[in-house]
Amino acid sequence: MTAATDFRADAEWARAQDRADPLRGFRDEFLIPPHGDVGQVYLCGNSLGLQPRGVRQALLDELDDWARLAVEGHLHARHPWLPYHREVRDGLTAVVGAEPSEVVAMNSLTVNLHLLLVSFYRPTRERHAILIERGAFPSDRDLAASQIRFHGYDPREALIELDADEPGGTISMTAIERALAEHGGRVALVLWPGVQYLTGQAFDIAAITKLAHARGCVAGFDLAHAAGNIDLALHDSGCDFAAWCSYKYLNSGPGAVAGAFVHARHARETLPRFEGWWGRNEATRFEMRPEFDAAPGADAWQLSNPPILALAPLRVSLELFTRAGMRALRAKSLRLSGYLEWLIRTHLGDVLEILTPEEPERRGAQLSVRVRAGREAGRSLFEYLTAHGVLGDWREPDVMRISPAPLYNRFEDCFALAEAVRAWRAQT
Ligand SMILES: *Cc1c(COP(=O)(O)O)cnc(C)c1O
Repeated sequence: MTAATDFRADAEWARAQDRADPLRGFRDEFLIPPHGDVGQVYLCGNSLGLQPRGVRQALLDELDDWARLAVEGHLHARHPWLPYHREVRDGLTAVVGAEPSEVVAMNSLTVNLHLLLVSFYRPTRERHAILIERGAFPSDRDLAASQIRFHGYDPREALIELDADEPGGTISMTAIERALAEHGGRVALVLWPGVQYLTGQAFDIAAITKLAHARGCVAGFDLAHAAGNIDLALHDSGCDFAAWCSYKYLNSGPGAVAGAFVHARHARETLPRFEGWWGRNEATRFEMRPEFDAAPGADAWQLSNPPILALAPLRVSLELFTRAGMRALRAKSLRLSGYLEWLIRTHLGDVLEILTPEEPERRGAQLSVRVRAGREAGRSLFEYLTAHGVLGDWREPDVMRISPAPLYNRFEDCFALAEAVRAWRAQT
């Protein structure tokens, strides 16, 4: 548990925490959207992270290099385009806890999961089910169901959706273990979130992988809400594959280039794969040979030459993560979200119910809350907050997600949210 004892519901105390925060300088690296003459209290980094200041210049540089160098930019741009994806590799490696050959930046999240399922969902008559959580993000359900149908099976039978078994709609390890004990023999793939988008529950990737592997299932993870949020150790977890988007905690802009992870132990296998020339070995790619000579590791899953204008923001953003370090960010995040939780529990418990688990290791930055008075009151609070420049987000049917992001949010922001909820309570 976070040491809640020193928390205080007072603006001066919150500001003192911010002054003492070793990561406080990073806030200035971001553009905070305005609300009147001040900045918004932006607690929506789980949905779209803020723009790093350096992104604009990075994009202008690429446009200049294109204008100045045209085709020669592939080799001579400030950040040469041919090997551009390597410039983000180290940053990604650090963020997700992988070896360099295990990660690649490409495409978007749903596309990457489809490409990875081509390789890792190999259904047979006896074993063709996919296990996901009930209430999964629609895209994840869509991709799993359509892959099942693509292979000639019926999602009504082969898509197993595990029900929540805990009060806030969260899922215990025991429930996952039980589901695998019951269905494991027919499950080809466990496709699980690192952090569940609606409840904010963080899962133990290594433990789920172990359970899945013990039943002969492949273990893959959607890290949309985990990448840049919790301290990941994908390589050590032993999971088979993972993918994530880069516009949430990774702050790389709307529709940013996503990421993929393939565990090193698969590097030498000849997995079935959809292939394209960018997945070829860089040394021989331009020899234009007829046969596919695979690049080592995750790079082999690349199909096309990447969109440089879309990779530039990811490069800029990952530099900030590298400077701050995931461990320090997670340490601040635990305390920041711990403060928000404490404010809600001790001062707003009559208004808000927290759905996210209270154990720090079972959550990331996000707290999902429900307004006790019901959906209408929830909408009213959400609209009141938005009108007052306090940005969370709303997910149907009745959940508000609030996520202090440790790169740019402050203790003062958490306090401001609590004050705004208090003001709304006073006027209803
Ligand atoms: C944000 C999110 C997505 C979005 O998918 P895109 O392919 O980036 O549009 C998918 N799945 C989950 C779990 C998400 O949180």
